[in-house]
Amino acid sequence: MGEEGKSSVAVIGAGIQGICISLCLIKKGFEVTLLDCEEPRLGLSASYGNAGHFSSYASVPINRPDILIDIPAMLLNTTGPLALKWNYVPKMIPWFWKFIKNCSEKNMRHTAKYMHQILDLALPAYDELFRDIDISGLVENKGIIYFWTNKDLKSRELEINMRKELGVEQQILKPHEIHDLEPHIRKIYHGGVFYPSARHTRNPRKILLRLFELFLKQGGHFKKQNVETINFSFDNKPNIKTNLNSYIFDKVVIACGAFSKKLTDQMNEKIPLDTERGYHVHFKGHDYLLSRPIIFLNKGFGITPMEQGLRVVGTVEFGGLDNPLSKKRISNLVNNARYLFPELSEHYDEWLGFRPSLPDFLPVIGRSKNYQNIFYAFGHHHLGWTLGAITGKIIANMLAGENTNLDLSPYSSGRFN
Ligand SMILES: Cc1cc2nc3c(=O)[nH]c(=O)nc-3n(C[C@H](O)[C@H](O)[C@H](O)COP(=O)(O)OP(=O)(O)OC[C@H]3O[C@@H](n4cnc5c(N)ncnc54)[C@H](O)[C@@H]3O)c2cc1C
Repeated sequence: MGEEGKSSVAVIGAGIQGICISLCLIKKGFEVTLLDCEEPRLGLSASYGNAGHFSSYASVPINRPDILIDIPAMLLNTTGPLALKWNYVPKMIPWFWKFIKNCSEKNMRHTAKYMHQILDLALPAYDELFRDIDISGLVENKGIIYFWTNKDLKSRELEINMRKELGVEQQILKPHEIHDLEPHIRKIYHGGVFYPSARHTRNPRKILLRLFELFLKQGGHFKKQNVETINFSFDNKPNIKTNLNSYIFDKVVIACGAFSKKLTDQMNEKIPLDTERGYHVHFKGHDYLLSRPIIFLNKGFGITPMEQGLRVVGTVEFGGLDNPLSKKRISNLVNNARYLFPELSEHYDEWLGFRPSLPDFLPVIGRSKNYQNIFYAFGHHHLGWTLGAITGKIIANMLAGENTNLDLSPYSSGRFN
């Protein structure tokens, strides 16, 4: 028990999941300690460097029957959106194998249904959190545009139809409509879709920090420490050992993004979490070229107008957590951006981040299979920024023993055992 008889919870990881979870737990009356090996003010996590989209429409997963045909060509194309670090391939084989098994139409529909269930609640959940911080100038409601050349139209049709079935709001765009919305893009496109409900932030780091400061203001504790092990006392209470100290809590939430596996392995669970590495660069002072985020599907990258300039974001690189940043990937992003906007000059801020991804493209949100006082919240892959607030609400409800009226079984870690 913590101060004043409150139940004490440690949340490990101060990315967007950890911070939203901590805030939601405080609302439920828990005494919360957030631990991270990094100082959140530095903004080094995936939650800092992402494309900033609040993509509530994006329920259709990468796992699709037709992607298996596309992957070999994508991997052979050195300027394409997919890349491998060859030294990591042997470690990744079990993940790939599970990914392939999840590419059936049945499994794709299962993932889309349960991503839709939480994505649909993602923006209202943020609205609740944003009531308590100043977000003026930081969140825009201008939708997002995907566009493509004719070559890629087939798989787009499948996605568009599935989103239609799920009731996602979308508008098919003709080339002149894309031009009307975003007149500065070079006219290489043949078609597109507009998702009007999507929002974006002009600075993910500022939002993260404002939520973190709110957490401290509301009585939350922060420890800049790396959690090394979790053991259990005689009454099943988790005993956390960090690089500096040991602590006993009533409950622990593991929210370390792509790094969570180091701790879940200690819980004797084989959760196939790995990372899809992604990159960004900035073009300072060029944000006037776009009003909203765009994604050029053929090249698998996107550009978001942000306070730092144009943030060019993309690449799915399989290479684990330890390989260095690839300069080749950075120059692909730069060249792709200049293809759409020839006026772009020098880039700055080369960043590599780690999407936490499971092979069925559903996150893990729920109680550990083996330990009743351990909870998990990770594996939000390309959508972790969007899903922070709703994940926080779900986890806080679970710890408080309240019903959410959602079917949460598809997010359980037990699905892998
Ligand atoms: C290039 C790119 C673009 C993206 N674009 C979008 C987008 O537009 N929209 C969207 O919704 N999502 C996007 N994402 C995905 C999103 O950024 C991630 O899913 C999300 O940030 C994951 O959040 P997290 O809190 O789970 O993990 P992280 O943000 O990675 O945070 C994990 C934290 O845990 C800490 N940690 C790890 N191990 C330990 C330990 N042992 N002890 C203590 N602390 C520890 C780390 O220091 C880190 O601060 C993108 C991702 C990338 C890489």
